[in-house]
Amino acid sequence: MERYDVAVLGGGLLGCFMARELRRHPLKVALVEAREDVCTGISRANTAIVYTGCDTKPGTLKTRLCVAACKGFGDLCRELGVPFARRGSLMVSYGPNADQTLQRKMIQGMENGVEGLKLMSGRAALEWEPGLAPGVSSALYAPDTGVTDPWELCYAAWENALANGVTPWFNAPVTDLLPEHGGWRVVTLRGELWAAAVVNCCGLHADQVQELAAPPTVRITPEKADYLILDQGAGHYVNHVIFHEPEEKGKGLTMVPTLDGKLLLGPSEQPGVGSLSATTEAGLAKLRQLAAQVAPELDLELTIRSFAGVRPKPYNVVRAQSIHDFTVTNPARGLWSLIGIKTPGLTCAQALGAWLAPQVADQLGKGELDSTFRPERKAPVRPRELTREARAALVARDPAYGRILCRCGGITEGEVRDAIRRGAVTLDGVKRRTGAGLGRCQGAFCGDRIMALMARMLGVPPEDLQKDGPGSRLLTGGRHGEG
Ligand SMILES: Cc1cc2nc3c(=O)[nH]c(=O)nc-3n(C[C@H](O)[C@H](O)[C@H](O)COP(=O)(O)OP(=O)(O)OC[C@H]3O[C@@H](n4cnc5c(N)ncnc54)[C@H](O)[C@@H]3O)c2cc1C
Repeated sequence: MERYDVAVLGGGLLGCFMARELRRHPLKVALVEAREDVCTGISRANTAIVYTGCDTKPGTLKTRLCVAACKGFGDLCRELGVPFARRGSLMVSYGPNADQTLQRKMIQGMENGVEGLKLMSGRAALEWEPGLAPGVSSALYAPDTGVTDPWELCYAAWENALANGVTPWFNAPVTDLLPEHGGWRVVTLRGELWAAAVVNCCGLHADQVQELAAPPTVRITPEKADYLILDQGAGHYVNHVIFHEPEEKGKGLTMVPTLDGKLLLGPSEQPGVGSLSATTEAGLAKLRQLAAQVAPELDLELTIRSFAGVRPKPYNVVRAQSIHDFTVTNPARGLWSLIGIKTPGLTCAQALGAWLAPQVADQLGKGELDSTFRPERKAPVRPRELTREARAALVARDPAYGRILCRCGGITEGEVRDAIRRGAVTLDGVKRRTGAGLGRCQGAFCGDRIMALMARMLGVPPEDLQKDGPGSRLLTGGRHGEG
């Protein structure tokens, strides 16, 4: 049986950063993931916002980590080669109740240490954002709110963890955790490993995984979140991230101008879950209704895709109450669980890792730093971001960077090849790493070419290729002339 100092369970944003941060110490680390790749769970579908920390309660772990993480996010993204832009955000209100909420958030934000917050008149907000419906009564401006690429962030954390020696255990759903020889025998469907410590970052299933080894303390209730994406160009409809604070109870509309020029609308708030990725009709209808109300000139015909995420809502079963802070439990010696880490979990993923990893390392008596750790990761080459001369030189070195596969996004064969080398094994794995298939045609033009390339490079028959993991084979039936 392979032996490790720490087994990190779950390869979402939290698990990947946890594994990376653990490697700052002289620890042998494994990342144990149920699926074939990282970034297939909650981290796959979110709003891509880097929050400042003015929205969360003072004095909580969530707030402390969020405020610090937001300030350092630019440095983190530079280190890992991840795109990031401080777009700034405007939280807008249309009436006295929401005005009061904004004033409360302004005071709370200042108490939390968020810098640059400014309460503005509705008129001033409309000058900045003329596309919003008239009648804005006030706005809270947060200049440091950012937008990133959550997929790239997760892959970057994982690639850096891997480069620093973390061992991947993919296709290995954990089915049992047994205390053994002062550590844990981790039983998976792929085999067993032993680790002196276990950090459970299993997202929507973190409660169930903890209960393999300890009595229940926190349970997760899943809650659906629907989104709409509008095509490139629609991102110019607004100049900032817009948070619409509704006058009545409920969730308003969030509008995010994404890094590739699209506009993201959402998330809705729908109880229940259904399948992980299925949208709900009610949630999408609510988004359209809110968009018509808050952004009346926005052309919803530009919608190219809808998708859904799932929030892991945590509930303390011991105290019988909802939880509003990040929950990190230590229910048995050498076992930690991060349970129900909702927004701003993307913003705080690295900070959570950096906060917990030294505690784990200390308990194992290995709190010192490992001088061989390298925090930088080399970002993939994006030819469309290069100068004409640099692009020509790149194509001369590797002609695959001169062959466009995805016409909508201008993404080349070279980028797809690189993504496969970096670990993509499904069509969506390529999409999330390169952006191929994210444009207006949604892969209608490039899908089969990418599949042919994947089959060749991975050495698998095209019929075995999956869109996004088990149960999503892309081709069915037989070959022409067979059977
Ligand atoms: C709708 C929505 C919008 C959000 N928007 C934002 C935002 O704009 N900004 C922000 O800061 N935060 C945001 N967040 C929060 C952020 O996305 C999450 O906190 C973060 O992605 C959680 O990552 P994770 O690693 O905990 O979970 P996941 O990404 O789900 O990773 C868990 C992993 O564990 C694996 N796993 C599960 N069970 C097992 C098992 N038995 N054995 C092995 N592996 C297992 C899963 O396959 C999965 O890969 C949003 C969240 C949601 C839901």
